[in-house]
Amino acid sequence: MATCPRGAIPRIGTGDHSFATGVWSPVHNGAVPKRPVTFRATDVPGVDVSDADVPDADVPETDVPETDDSTSLNSLTAIRTALFAWWDANARDLPWRFGRTTPWGVLVSEVMSQQTQMSRVVPYWLSWMGTWPDAAALASASTAEVLTAWGRLGYPRRALRLQECAKVVAGRYHDALPATYDELVALPGVGDYTASAVLSFARGQRIPVIDTNIRRALSRVLLGKESLGGSANREERDLAERVLPSKAPDSATWNQAVMELGALVCTAKAPLCDSCPLAPRCRFLAAGRPGLGERRTRPRQRFQGTNRQVRGKILEALRGISVNGGVDGAAAGTQPVTATGVQPATAPEVQPATVPVPTLPRDRVEALWGDHVQLDACIASLDEDGLIEIMPDGSLRLPR
Ligand code: SF4
Repeated sequence: MATCPRGAIPRIGTGDHSFATGVWSPVHNGAVPKRPVTFRATDVPGVDVSDADVPDADVPETDVPETDDSTSLNSLTAIRTALFAWWDANARDLPWRFGRTTPWGVLVSEVMSQQTQMSRVVPYWLSWMGTWPDAAALASASTAEVLTAWGRLGYPRRALRLQECAKVVAGRYHDALPATYDELVALPGVGDYTASAVLSFARGQRIPVIDTNIRRALSRVLLGKESLGGSANREERDLAERVLPSKAPDSATWNQAVMELGALVCTAKAPLCDSCPLAPRCRFLAAGRPGLGERRTRPRQRFQGTNRQVRGKILEALRGISVNGGVDGAAAGTQPVTATGVQPATAPEVQPATVPVPTLPRDRVEALWGDHVQLDACIASLDEDGLIEIMPDGSLRLPR
């Protein structure tokens, strides 16, 4: 087993602390354990780096002529070496990284991080995994509990899809997240990106991961132009595949490092080229950063006054009364249900713990937003999405 010369941390993917078998221990009290230092052959002078790279591994690095093609062996080796060194020094110490969680924990982090900054996700993820450390636990939670725990992460349909996914994993796969791409993308709410990210980051499999940050960074460094957003095109997919290190553990580090660079340094509007480890090799910088910030997608929609804002207000109010057990308003009613969300038909011999499901009375609903036509449209859409329940008297509650 290869070990890190800077410590006793086994190399990822090669031993009993690999991404594939990452030993997960629950994180208590929000404490984040120190991340291990990753190790690659490229870190050590005199060690052959050809194993991590390109098809013709017999060609010594120095024998390959420099070309204009930034994906040539020389350029790729230099880019990877610089990027991996930067990653080792600068990767954020997120609690789902470095083999410290299960594949399920990685999937949860990826779902939460969609359209939400990772730094915002951390407290939610820690609390979530503390409450529901595996798919079976989440599957047995009530919808109200799940939506309440989702809090202000936004786009709450993701929470419902995640719970649907948990039910499939718990039932069909005996609580073990499947390890093939086809099985993963067949799960509710799991698309190409999430499946690839889980296989790469949690299982250490060699698979390109294509998200906005990776597309932007690769396109700038290697093609010298902006990635314009929208769906990934064939050229971007081919590029991501072509430059992926051939060895699985290095490919996982590469995916994470490029993504991190795109998130922290090679940002969309104001890339920090002065402090970028890839600046000496970046074709976009060399070309004068043509079309910096150009996007194919439409401008970001304003938030104030939108249905999204109204829907958020309604859910926030319902979460508030759930968290407070209905005490933040004397008019809020409650209906007891079991912890698993099943209303008992008859009183059992041993009473299970009950979870109050408070309702928000109609007058308090109406006080949330002045335009009642828009308010009712949003209530209807939330109901349609399965995010709320409308009671016969017009009061609302989170689904059980
Ligand atoms: S030099 Fe600038 S544009 Fe190029 S990869 Fe770095 S931050 Fe991005």
